[in-house]
Amino acid sequence: MSTPVLQITDLEKHFPMQRGLLRREVARVKAVDGVSFSISPGETLCLVGESGSGKSTVGKLILRLTQPSGGTIRLDGVDVTDLGEGALRKHRRRVQMVFQDPYGSLNPKLMAGTIVAEPIENFESFSAGEREARVAAILKKVGLGADAMRRYPFEFSGGQRQRLAIARALAVNPKLIVADEPVSALDVSVQAQVLNLLVDLQEELQLAYLFISHDLGVVEHIGHRIAVMYLGRIVEIAPKKAIFCEPLHPYAQALISAAPVPDPHFKRERLLIEGDVPSPIRPPCGCRFHTRCPFARPRCRSEDPQLREVVPGHFVACHLREDGYRGTLPRPG
Ligand code: SF4
Repeated sequence: MSTPVLQITDLEKHFPMQRGLLRREVARVKAVDGVSFSISPGETLCLVGESGSGKSTVGKLILRLTQPSGGTIRLDGVDVTDLGEGALRKHRRRVQMVFQDPYGSLNPKLMAGTIVAEPIENFESFSAGEREARVAAILKKVGLGADAMRRYPFEFSGGQRQRLAIARALAVNPKLIVADEPVSALDVSVQAQVLNLLVDLQEELQLAYLFISHDLGVVEHIGHRIAVMYLGRIVEIAPKKAIFCEPLHPYAQALISAAPVPDPHFKRERLLIEGDVPSPIRPPCGCRFHTRCPFARPRCRSEDPQLREVVPGHFVACHLREDGYRGTLPRPG
């Protein structure tokens, strides 16, 4: 097994809520509360969950765009959790981000060539000719022609702009790309093109992806493993096939059962969950999902289930799966 590109352990991000003239802390929003996973070179781990589950915050923590409240982030075996500004520059070179809105993440006043050259200038000492050749090669790699170099972001289509954002991310030879809903703003036909580009680049460059998405169709296309988040925690993590064919956590079961299937003759049995996601300021005691879980037992209200490996590579946090039971869960009598 290769060394993981990324290893995060017990990662936490708690945002203090302050009130009054003295800005007294009155509560904490537990956006991310003890998340652990690793990603290997050439692997795509998809992070899924409802909005507010903490998945985008995990991405920002890995890039150190926000400082963790606890836990560790290791990149290529190096602990980068508490790096200062200088050392953080090197870290940022190895991890790049692709955002949902390519137009918002690209400077509209700069031509595409300058947008891709900027990160190269920050990290490499190339001559102007070498830099231009490198920019042209990267633009070609993402399927943009040489004329793209002298065009502004508004002159591209949505899909082309996302290709440009990917080119900028590739400019400094990162090992890991955090892609936060990178195709959700694109038309479906363009989505497939951008996803295929990401897959091709991964095969060629052995890139690792943390792919954050709420769209299970997209996740099924691109993911190798899937991690399901609920209220700041991972409740299930497993290879893609296991999550789609045999989800074990009731929340994952409900998500998968609601996903559309391309075969009109195939019907998935729906598992409906009711109610809203509780506030991350005061998450429920015991299992955080117990207020919405149709299988909840008295124990679920007081005991917090740990993420356990129930079959090799398949981890789930549910009391009813502790002994490795994989059958249909009985509703409480
Ligand atoms: Fe539902 Fe209990 Fe399992 Fe939580 S631990 S998912 S409440 S059955």
